[in-house]
Amino acid sequence: MLLGHLGEAGVVRHQRVQHRPTGTVRPMASSEQPGVGRITDALEALGARLGPERVQTAADVRDLHGRDESWHPPAPPDAVVFPRSTEEAVEIVRICGRYGVPIVPFGAGTSLEGHVAALSGGVSVDMREMNAILRLSVEDMDATVQAGVTRHQLDAKLRPEGVFFPVDPGADATLGGMAATGASGTTTVRYGAMRQNVLSLTVVTAGGEVVRTGSRARKSSAGYDLTRLFIGSEGTLGLITELTLRVHPTPEAMTAAVCAFPALEEAVDCVIAVLQNAIPIARIELLDETQVDAVNRHFELDHDVAPTLFLEFHGSPTVVADQAAAVEALAGELGGRGFAWAADEGERRRLWRARHGVYDACRALRPGARVFATDACVPISRLAECILQTRRDIDDSGLVAPIVGHVGDGNFHVSVVLDPDDPDELERAVAFNERLVRRAIALEGTCTGEHGVGHGKSRFLELEHGAAAVGIMRAVKSALDPDGLFNPGKVAGAARI
Ligand SMILES: Cc1cc2nc3c(=O)[nH]c(=O)nc-3n(C[C@H](O)[C@H](O)[C@H](O)COP(=O)(O)OP(=O)(O)OC[C@H]3O[C@@H](n4cnc5c(N)ncnc54)[C@H](O)[C@@H]3O)c2cc1C
Repeated sequence: MLLGHLGEAGVVRHQRVQHRPTGTVRPMASSEQPGVGRITDALEALGARLGPERVQTAADVRDLHGRDESWHPPAPPDAVVFPRSTEEAVEIVRICGRYGVPIVPFGAGTSLEGHVAALSGGVSVDMREMNAILRLSVEDMDATVQAGVTRHQLDAKLRPEGVFFPVDPGADATLGGMAATGASGTTTVRYGAMRQNVLSLTVVTAGGEVVRTGSRARKSSAGYDLTRLFIGSEGTLGLITELTLRVHPTPEAMTAAVCAFPALEEAVDCVIAVLQNAIPIARIELLDETQVDAVNRHFELDHDVAPTLFLEFHGSPTVVADQAAAVEALAGELGGRGFAWAADEGERRRLWRARHGVYDACRALRPGARVFATDACVPISRLAECILQTRRDIDDSGLVAPIVGHVGDGNFHVSVVLDPDDPDELERAVAFNERLVRRAIALEGTCTGEHGVGHGKSRFLELEHGAAAVGIMRAVKSALDPDGLFNPGKVAGAARI
């Protein structure tokens, strides 16, 4: 039985295990709290196995693990455990299974839809002590890492070897969390998302078995694709402990460019023209006027305050120069102005630091504000329409909300900059978000291109996929996790609308 439910404004209200102010767990019989399980017995068994320092119940630790970077209210777990190996992960899952205690996998807590909130209490499994890079083969262009490795850590290891891992969500997430949310980023238009860049996963199932979902082969026709079943499963089907990843050769040359347009339509038409001309662009990101203004202020830049594309080209020096010239010509035909490109590494990094810093730039627009981040994705031919309607909606709602997008994928983000103490503003943002979701789905798109559904958007799954498809998702969940131990209340296990 799930104890959490969505209130009228999509706000989570939950009732669950009570804690003493000291952070110790109140002893409690399972009969007292149906569905919560025998947490005290489980913690005793976990402490005996991992030692007290790796089973933490202090309020501040629990609080940190029950919140992500979203606007959703936190829901702390009863305890946080820190495995160091797949074997320890197996024991944690078996102990939790034995006592009926929920398990919430935790990476870096950077997700945006309430993913790590422990809606029914239980144990948060923090993977950050499983942070070894186990193997790198430059010959085969693959690497095997433990799930708690972060993308910056991996990047630092790979760069000196002349290779890189392309998936780059704006935050320094863990690779396990990135697989679990089906993450993508600015280079997805060229190199693909997590789904295209994971060869195989090691997963601990709810039954405490260790499953390897694939081999190191580049492709396989052998059986159901379990790798891609677990990618995007958001901690609801099992605990990912290791990943084998595709890596890519570092391009010989990289050039960044920036170009402002008279209006959003022209900027999006330019993206469509680039893709139709098969120019293998490595990054193509759109910032609307509000976002450019925020970035200018925060990073002391002087870009034209207009819809702007940030671009990057990868290849040999001649190839990148040819690509940049071709895009400059296309942009010129569409009224693009001030097309400027920089082969210089420092300049390129400065440009992308600004793009990657949009979240901080948004927050700086209103000191003390929180960002309510949401994303949607539509077929690229519907992108201009979707963004323009969304911009009008933001303005009509009286919200402050810059737009930035991985437009090569038809994906864009809206960052509503909110006063966290103003319930009326939160209500308007929640209503706006719902309209955005419905708009994207009506335009044959999706309620989220990359953040995932957590429990914030899981109620839209049926609207997007239909009852039969969600029925299959529920059947998969109950086949793999019949007792509903893993991350209850999320994805297909959440409330319906
Ligand atoms: C500033 C900012 C920018 C962002 N930009 C992007 C972006 O461009 N693209 C994008 O895709 N996302 C983006 N995000 C969202 C976020 O970074 C991603 O969702 C990321 O993949 C989450 O990884 P994490 O390690 O923080 O996972 P967490 O937040 O800790 O967990 C996320 C989910 O994965 C599950 N999980 C975590 N680890 C495991 C594991 N080992 N096994 C099974 N389940 C697990 C959790 O239970 C939870 O459901 C951004 C977030 C911020 C704050």
